[in-house]
Amino acid sequence: SRAPLLPAVQAETTLGVLGGGQLGRMFVHAAQQMGYFTAVLDPDPSSPAGRVSHHHIQTDYLDPQGLAELARLSCAVTTEFENVPAQALEQLAATRPVAPAASAVAIAQDRAREKAHFVACGVPCAPYAVIDTPAQLAAVDESLLPGILKTARLGYDGKGQVRVKTREELNAAWAGLKQVPCVLEKMLPLASECSVIVARGADGAMVNFPVQRNLHREGILAVTEVFEGNLPAALAEQAVAAARSVATGLDYVGVLCVEFFVLADGSLVVNEIAPRPHNSGHYTIDGCDLSQFDLQVRAMVGLPLVQPRLHSPSIMLNLLGDLWFAPGANEAVTPPWDRVLALPGTHLHLYGKLDAKRARKMGHLNITAATPEAARAVALQAAAVLG
Ligand code: ADP
Ligand code: MG
Repeated sequence: SRAPLLPAVQAETTLGVLGGGQLGRMFVHAAQQMGYFTAVLDPDPSSPAGRVSHHHIQTDYLDPQGLAELARLSCAVTTEFENVPAQALEQLAATRPVAPAASAVAIAQDRAREKAHFVACGVPCAPYAVIDTPAQLAAVDESLLPGILKTARLGYDGKGQVRVKTREELNAAWAGLKQVPCVLEKMLPLASECSVIVARGADGAMVNFPVQRNLHREGILAVTEVFEGNLPAALAEQAVAAARSVATGLDYVGVLCVEFFVLADGSLVVNEIAPRPHNSGHYTIDGCDLSQFDLQVRAMVGLPLVQPRLHSPSIMLNLLGDLWFAPGANEAVTPPWDRVLALPGTHLHLYGKLDAKRARKMGHLNITAATPEAARAVALQAAAVLG
């Protein structure tokens, strides 16, 4: 195994990131805290990560010159953007260590390949059918209805999904999605949702964060709660074991998030994976002794991965652009952060996006407290202040 890439003061040891969104920004913050320099590739001149990075290459993800410049500047490269073209990672991997590998990202980008991987790992997922052709559509088993038709690629925050009750609705939905490759999943009775974030090194060493309990609103993560007893202990153990086997099966290097459904009967079903730090892991910045971004840095440079410790019961509230708008208003107004920050244990994270839009992730509020009850009380007060 290769020697770790240490932050050498005389050399400006630079870490590269494909993608300049909020995940890239928080990665850049973690890398810079440890003394690394950073280079972000993102075409948007005002991208959240580009604006805080030492270097910002403003080209398309497939621009050969942009990628060559990123490789020239960087000792190692990672991605924060799930839909980064696999060819871009492959071009970079020819000359630089890249984590995660293009092969793992390619599986996470395609719901059909992702589900086949879960089956191969022996981790239960929702019953499903791949729909690439009219013949596959016609052959769909009745038992998968009602279901959710999801585009195999490029879906996020509930986009690219249609809920269907009947075969007629299914046919219409696939036509509506322009007959792109899809997966039809059986609609499952969800009791709750949770996720597990693991970090795995090139040597196979792996650590994990505790199980996160997640609440979604309209397909978008709204709240994450992490503390002892947030989920039954046996279920939490099962989720950690499943996340670890999914990562091992991918020979994964870096931070990986595995999302799960808890069904009404108490059983656990894997939903999807994200080959990067994840929204449900943002609490780790304030609630743990190492954040998911710290571990992404360590994994990609070959530094030791040590098991992170949750030091405080934590709740994360996602801050969507809607908070900037009173009902019916068109003009964005800054929410009363002063009143939110008057509450104990509140940590405001804003991503530096230039304009607030409804359903856009603008930031998050981490709440840490001595007890779960105290964290919940502050979360309720913060929600009341934000209206
Ligand atoms: P995205 O990539 O947009 O996050 P997901 O597949 O995670 O898409 O779906 C978004 C949300 O929709 C999930 O978090 C869950 O609340 C709900 N959902 C997705 N699939 C199912 C299913 N098979 N049964 C019930 N609810 C589902
Ligand atoms: Mg999801």
